[in-house]
Amino acid sequence: MSLNRELVKEAMKGVRVSPQSPDVVAANQFAWAAACDTYASVKLRVGALDKPGFDRVAGEAHKALLALGKPLDSLIVEFIDDLGTVIHTTRFGGPVARSKNATPAAPQAAHAAAPVTPPSRPAQDAGHRPIGGVNADASGIQGVGRIIAVGAGKGGVGKSTIALNLAVGLARRGKSVGLMDGDIYGPSMPTMLGLGSLDPVIHEGLLQPFAVHGVKCMTIGKLVDPEKPLIWRGPMAHGAFKQLTEQTRWGELDYLIVDLPPGTGDVSLTLAQALKVAGAVVVCTPQKVAQDDAVRAAKMFQQLGIEVLGVVENMSSFVADDGKSYEIFGRGGAEQMAQRLGVPFLGAIPITMGLRVNSDTGNPTLNFTPTDAPGKRLHAALEAMIDQFEAQASLAAMRAGATRPTLTIS
Ligand code: ADP
Repeated sequence: MSLNRELVKEAMKGVRVSPQSPDVVAANQFAWAAACDTYASVKLRVGALDKPGFDRVAGEAHKALLALGKPLDSLIVEFIDDLGTVIHTTRFGGPVARSKNATPAAPQAAHAAAPVTPPSRPAQDAGHRPIGGVNADASGIQGVGRIIAVGAGKGGVGKSTIALNLAVGLARRGKSVGLMDGDIYGPSMPTMLGLGSLDPVIHEGLLQPFAVHGVKCMTIGKLVDPEKPLIWRGPMAHGAFKQLTEQTRWGELDYLIVDLPPGTGDVSLTLAQALKVAGAVVVCTPQKVAQDDAVRAAKMFQQLGIEVLGVVENMSSFVADDGKSYEIFGRGGAEQMAQRLGVPFLGAIPITMGLRVNSDTGNPTLNFTPTDAPGKRLHAALEAMIDQFEAQASLAAMRAGATRPTLTIS
């Protein structure tokens, strides 16, 4: 029998935050565990510790798991606060290669697994030209903080839906957010955003983004004939996408969320490379076949040196009008896949009729102001996903040296 959730929890009974304290399970500090094959992750709610303190407790957890005598290739120990926000992560073994052009490292043998410090972001290509020349920000686009790519192994899994709701949700939390529809094969944002007959405006040589639902948006769908199929060759697509992103007057943005075309073909690859992407979110559905594609998408980002901030499981269950859930595609597959890849799981978004209707009618804001039972479940799931996203994005920024934790004493 390989590792499972119960075995991991059992092992945690051997872990103590200090020699005098009860074990983390007895002390109610054990929050969550998951395991799949030789991969495990654990969440502990242990309060404020310094970095060596976190790593020491994580080391104990690692030792306790090894003592089970099961093969263990990767362990991720996440420390969370009372709100569930991840405040520290310690990894042992597992695929963490993020250097440019590197393939993900083969999992290390259990006995060799040691804490891994994720490498900092590689230097960017000389080819990334900051637009405007001066004062360009980390993204290479003046005023734009971090570019986040949302990708998927294949179409129809809800990549655009997740990108849009992530953008709207972040904006509702007071972040300044841009949304770039880079799905050049089937731009769906004009519909999902309800852009209707709005036309793009060019001012002083730059496109003005559409300001809707608290988000600044740009979509190639507004610049091409919606009735004509979009057939792009790699270099053409690359040029159009880069131009559209760089020649939009985004202004000051905390995040620019980019909805990439589905798949891991040439076009997705060049688009992901065209911008200084700070992190990627991979969307997949619970079925096994979808996961295989999503693994390829995650590996594509990793090979480009782009940190995968996490995986979102969309359509993880159907919530009916009476609030009952039906797991029509199964559940938990994406979480296990995230574990196999050694990347965070950002959450599970259910299927609701309301989400589909709000997307078709261009009213994403309604997903955040629910009135019925399925809507409330969806809203809670979206907020939980955005919590996890923000936590992982801040961690990634800290690892990249972009921000430092701040301590406020009052
Ligand atoms: P992709 O970008 O991966 O091609 P979309 O985001 O365009 O997929 O979603 C495809 C269709 O599925 C859209 O009509 C969308 O409204 C619907 N959809 C996606 N996710 C959900 C969900 N969780 N609940 C209900 N409908 C959904």
